[in-house]
Amino acid sequence: MATITSIQYQAALSYAWKIKSGVLSLSKAANLLVIDVAMGAGSAKDYLVVLNAMLEGHVYKRTIKIDAYDYYFEQFSRTLSISDFTKVIQATELHLNYYSSLGNGSQVAVRTLVDSYRAKLALSVTEVIYPDEVPELLTGFIEGALKQVTINAYERDSKARKICIAKFGAICHVCDFDFKKTYGEVGKVFIHVHHKVDIATIGKSYQVDPINDLIPVCPNCHAMLHTETPAMSIDKLRLIIQTMRHKSFKHQACGTH
Ligand SMILES: [Zn+2]
Ligand SMILES: [Zn+2]
Repeated sequence: MATITSIQYQAALSYAWKIKSGVLSLSKAANLLVIDVAMGAGSAKDYLVVLNAMLEGHVYKRTIKIDAYDYYFEQFSRTLSISDFTKVIQATELHLNYYSSLGNGSQVAVRTLVDSYRAKLALSVTEVIYPDEVPELLTGFIEGALKQVTINAYERDSKARKICIAKFGAICHVCDFDFKKTYGEVGKVFIHVHHKVDIATIGKSYQVDPINDLIPVCPNCHAMLHTETPAMSIDKLRLIIQTMRHKSFKHQACGTH
């Protein structure tokens, strides 16, 4: 069996996205991998099956190279939402369990890599979900098994999120907390994107507008916005903060007497 080169496994990922978005079938993508980057037909199929299972959160039986895992996890962790990336890690854990149950060894390097990403994911659980946003029509999105409930699909849509953050910056538009200034690049992962449109008024054909419908907010302000249903307006919460700051300023001034 020929060694898989980085060009080959990287190409496999770009074809996996095309399968995911429905542009290509798995067999067509496998054929193209053979033509494009001279991957063996068997390997091409293996890599696509594995990538597809990762994106769906399903167990897979075939093995891939550790270098490929490294590359895929890095790409996925940067481009997928936390819940989608959790699926990738879950699928790999299922695979590792399956593989070791065969008595084929334990793929230590892969296990170590998975564990390190698990730890990173545990840190990012600050992506709190607000149950008051559960609209009836979206209950299908709830991943019971994950115990991590996907509620407002619009706030979690990774593409819409990215466009919103690119436009408005990783800054809370209620309290002005600047994630990038305080935490650097990693802050972008932690900022929330709030969906300003009342979910109860949304019809099935609704398409989120990342610029007009979404706004970056810090997790604290996000939680405060959702203390009301429908969510409080950004302006109202801004005003509350201003009033409180003013009060505490006056209070401090009194205390100096
Ligand atoms: Zn804030
Ligand atoms: Zn929200």
